Amino acid sequence: MKEIIIKSNNCNRLPFALNMPDTTKNIIFGAINIMKMEDLIDRRCGWCGNDELYIKYHDEEWGRLVTDDKILFEFLILESAQAGLSWITILRKREGYRKAFHNFDAGEVAKMTAADVERLMQFDGIVKNRLKITSTITNAKLFLDIQKEFGSFYNYTLSFFPGKKPVINHLKSLSEALVSSPESDAMSKDMKKRGFKFFGSTICYAYLQAVGFVNDHLVDCFCRDKI
Ligand SMILES: [Zn+2]
Repeated sequence: MKEIIIKSNNCNRLPFALNMPDTTKNIIFGAINIMKMEDLIDRRCGWCGNDELYIKYHDEEWGRLVTDDKILFEFLILESAQAGLSWITILRKREGYRKAFHNFDAGEVAKMTAADVERLMQFDGIVKNRLKITSTITNAKLFLDIQKEFGSFYNYTLSFFPGKKPVINHLKSLSEALVSSPESDAMSKDMKKRGFKFFGSTICYAYLQAVGFVNDHLVDCFCRDKI
């Protein structure tokens, strides 16, 4: 069984934190940032481990190009909620976020008020962080502005890619995985200028991977050619 060492300056972002208590995870990812992991498990990217939810997410969603703005908004909410936490934590709360934020309808979220923020601070289905909840509402308003300006958030996202084409990487090993790119740097910088919160380059790169503007499935992963 081949093992590799993952080193990253932001392992907490990478979807590796499986089946281990948060405290252990924080020790491993926070202080040491090194984890042993197989490149492939059952012919799929090894970061899924054996977690059913993660495997389903990897097989059915991760890296598949999303053109529907409603789903792009869903990932914008989820990725920004993830800041500072592990992705699996947010994935497990996805239905909570759906309930809390009007089935990811940006128009409805943009109308939410301070009273809604107080209500959600008592709701167990999401991460109860006042700044994150408030920012989700602000981000929704800015998302609508971008739709008006570019026709769609999809067009806006694509505008950061040379040739207006998604990127297909050729990763042979998880150790080659990136946590940001020139595209995520440029997009997050522009979003920050517009007032978006919790959407730095690393979060932005994770968003681009998730919604298929970057294909980071390993070359030997069975999903790679299906998307
Ligand atoms: Zn894969």
